Amino acid sequence: MSDNTFQASPIAIAAPLPRRSRQARVVWRNNVVTVGGDAPVRVQSMTNTDTVDAIGTAIQVKELAQAGSEMVRITVNTPEAAAAVPYIREQLDRMGEYVPLVGDFHYNGHRLLTDYPACAEALSKYRINPGNVGKGEKKDKQFGQMIEIAAKYDKAVRIGVNWGSLDQEIMAELMDANSQRAQPWETRQVMYEALITSAITSAKLAQNIGLNPDNIILSCKVSGVQDLIAVYRELARRCDYALHLGLTEAGMGTKGTVASTAALAVLLQEGIGDTIRVSLTPQPGEARTQEVVVASEILQSLGLRVFVPSVTACPGCGRTTSTTFQELAKQIDGYLRGQMPVWRMKYPGVEAMKVAVMGCIVNGPGESKHADIGISLPGNGEAPAAPVFIDGEKAMTLRGEGIATEFQEIVESYVQRRWGAGA
Ligand code: SF4
Repeated sequence: MSDNTFQASPIAIAAPLPRRSRQARVVWRNNVVTVGGDAPVRVQSMTNTDTVDAIGTAIQVKELAQAGSEMVRITVNTPEAAAAVPYIREQLDRMGEYVPLVGDFHYNGHRLLTDYPACAEALSKYRINPGNVGKGEKKDKQFGQMIEIAAKYDKAVRIGVNWGSLDQEIMAELMDANSQRAQPWETRQVMYEALITSAITSAKLAQNIGLNPDNIILSCKVSGVQDLIAVYRELARRCDYALHLGLTEAGMGTKGTVASTAALAVLLQEGIGDTIRVSLTPQPGEARTQEVVVASEILQSLGLRVFVPSVTACPGCGRTTSTTFQELAKQIDGYLRGQMPVWRMKYPGVEAMKVAVMGCIVNGPGESKHADIGISLPGNGEAPAAPVFIDGEKAMTLRGEGIATEFQEIVESYVQRRWGAGA
């Protein structure tokens, strides 16, 4: 052994820092979703259906919940939408889907929640944007009206500030104060301060009106990665409310996915954030559930949650000129995700399964042995055979056209054996 071996200290294992927020509860019937404290970081999403279309909205809420969203937000923007909310809830309950619904209110929430008590009761949480509750004297009055209703029905409230609709009175006050400074802050820094001030003063006001602080969740969303990190670091330092994280208007496809991941990963690693949403603009033909998939993957990649069995697949290279292994990796990934709504109930613990789909002999057998179950496909010039490894041991070799289907069947029977009743 070299001297180095003796002198070296073990390298610290990286892990997210512990969180330190209060714990809020978002409840529908016997489904109690805890947020903050020592609860797992939760995944949220939002529908893009017209809320007035109660059936269409209920179907999309169910899809989002089945994909792993633990709360689903719906727009409540008109009297017709508010009237539809109890029917959406009823449809979901009939389908046995008890995911809590969050109502998104702007401008007229005080009226809708007052005029439609069944809507107020059917929702589990209200999202209130303090920048959009009214101006001047009306602001505190209308905000107070919504908070009183939340307190009456014991509902959680997210005070959700957004830089696109920041309270302009607060911003103007802070800009005036800034102009008096010997060394004025950058406008961006004043904006950070305005976002945080708006969130925290609204939360304190809600508490003074009678809302339990454990029913309060805060968010301060911006669309720049570095801005989001700066704002949430300071927000987390100044309060202990549970925090909802999200990069607002993240954009489409790769850009939206990468920007959200970059921002959320930094904060989550620092122990900041109790619920997350990835605000992806769906690409034409893309399922709304993609935002749930990305949010879950962020948490799973950081080791904070485990939602679905993971598929380790190599990127392929000059040794794999055919698309066979790409297709197999995609097919297996889709199959595992598709099975999860059923497997989650039937095979508790299966979400921790690791599956490897590899392209050739270089890393294929090694990576497959590290997985619970893995397949190493033949690369260029290799014999047309695909060894399958189960629990680190070579179990069989597949050949021919039906490799994908056969491997899927092997995975299914492995899952039954390992996580089925009586296993
Ligand atoms: S496992 Fe083989 S095919 Fe996959 S990237 Fe490595 S060398 Fe290329």
